[in-house]
Amino acid sequence: MFSAAHFGEVDLEILREEAVKQALRDHEGLVCSHQVVEERRLGTLWSVVGHPCERQLDIAAGSPCQAAYRTVSF
Ligand SMILES: [Zn+2]
Repeated sequence: MFSAAHFGEVDLEILREEAVKQALRDHEGLVCSHQVVEERRLGTLWSVVGHPCERQLDIAAGSPCQAAYRTVSF
């Protein structure tokens, strides 16, 4: 059975994870990049958020603003 405090911790963790993913999607700071420089296309190839205690990685293959994160366990 879950307590109210447990749900609070879970919600906080989800908020932290989403904040990290939002930062990785940032275009103003060029974290997620889509540019053409001197006729060369430059951009973010992939993005990863690690959950070492759960032994999981959330991986977006491609620009994180366009590709969905998929969870991989190791
Ligand atoms: Zn982007």
